[in-house]
Amino acid sequence: MREITIVGGGPAGALCGEKLASAGFDVTIFDERMAWEKPCGGGLTHKAIEAYPFLLDSPQPKKIVSQAELISSRGHRARFEMSHPIVIYARKVLNGLLLDRAVAVGCRAICSRVTNVDTQGERVRLTAAGEEREADFVVLAAGARNQLLPETTALGTRDLEVTLGYFVPTEEDIIKIKFLKQFEGYLWSFPRADHLSVGICAKMGQSPSQQLRHHLDDFVSEEKFSMEGAKFYSHVLPSPQAQTIRGRRILGRNWAMAGDAAACVDPITGEGLYYALRSGDLLAQALVEGQTQAYPERLRAAFSADLEFAALIARKIFRGTFLGDAITTRMVQLLNYSPAFRDLIRDVFSGSQDYRSLKRRLWNQVGITFAEITRNFLDPRRLRFIAGHSNGHEPSR
Ligand SMILES: Cc1cc2nc3c(=O)[nH]c(=O)nc-3n(C[C@H](O)[C@H](O)[C@H](O)COP(=O)(O)OP(=O)(O)OC[C@H]3O[C@@H](n4cnc5c(N)ncnc54)[C@H](O)[C@@H]3O)c2cc1C
Repeated sequence: MREITIVGGGPAGALCGEKLASAGFDVTIFDERMAWEKPCGGGLTHKAIEAYPFLLDSPQPKKIVSQAELISSRGHRARFEMSHPIVIYARKVLNGLLLDRAVAVGCRAICSRVTNVDTQGERVRLTAAGEEREADFVVLAAGARNQLLPETTALGTRDLEVTLGYFVPTEEDIIKIKFLKQFEGYLWSFPRADHLSVGICAKMGQSPSQQLRHHLDDFVSEEKFSMEGAKFYSHVLPSPQAQTIRGRRILGRNWAMAGDAAACVDPITGEGLYYALRSGDLLAQALVEGQTQAYPERLRAAFSADLEFAALIARKIFRGTFLGDAITTRMVQLLNYSPAFRDLIRDVFSGSQDYRSLKRRLWNQVGITFAEITRNFLDPRRLRFIAGHSNGHEPSR
């Protein structure tokens, strides 16, 4: 197998192409837009930076953000320093960086839409720009709405989220996340080099888009973002159910999927960039080693078992209650009251804490957390605050 065609030059396709071409494969990447401003927060967590340090070292413009603020549906706020900064790119810049690296090691990058993929014959046949081409193997990395599916089905409503947002030409230095009451999703503001990406994500089919737009506009006015010159966007994002993560077919005789197309997205946070890069990388490694059939198992060992666990607890996190109030509200309150809990959330948000060991860590530190809450709760300064304020803004620590 020498000739490999990749459909989609986003993070999954571009990194897969770079790794394959570096190993001597003849690689062609097709993307209908090449480097473009895909609607996205553009945030790369610590695990992405650790695995791919060039994302931090590259000279391309990016924003390095260390502070985050969580806002509960009732208006409580908690600010904290993340244990590792998040690196935020405009997607046009990030995709351009990844495609340039792929081309530099020998990939052909062709700006064209692939309209058909036929994997039935000895060789794969693809149609792009009205021309038919052949390859030994095809990598489908064409994103969440990919319809070029040889022997599997597209992601359905239950595996997708709707996102709406604005690119706002203003500068900030803090990530903001706001939760809503009984709502599977959240609002966000991600600062980039010269603008903000502000948006809302929600499970598809659970809220009409007018209502989402309403929540988004309320958030924008509460946070007093100046909207002059803001550009609206909307896109879908995989939010896979546990059975989709476990059972979805992502590999065939002469094809494989990576990134959003393979539903490699965190169903709680919507983080997909790291998983797109890592899945593209693991697929390339498996192909280079002649171990293509090992790709799904390697993906599972690397992260998809953890994402499956996240899918099982996602609904509970967004809709569940703890001690009589929403879990998300309690989370924001605990951040202010317990340094041990704050350390845990700092790790979760910077991407250095996985979900499966989170439960154990929570249990191990439950005693410390309650001792800290009791001590802080009885602090006369806070008692005065609780008695006197109803807007929930906590005094900063
Ligand atoms: C609003 C929003 C905010 C997000 N914020 C974050 C965030 O802050 N951090 C994070 O980690 N993740 C975030 N994500 C998720 C992240 O954007 C995706 O997980 C990531 O882009 C997936 O990469 P990919 O390479 O699989 O697919 P994509 O980046 O979607 O790339 C697919 C490429 O395929 C091309 N393509 C599609 N069809 C064809 C075709 N038929 N022929 C040729 N080319 C084709 C497209 O032009 C595109 O360039 C966000 C997503 C959304 C929607």
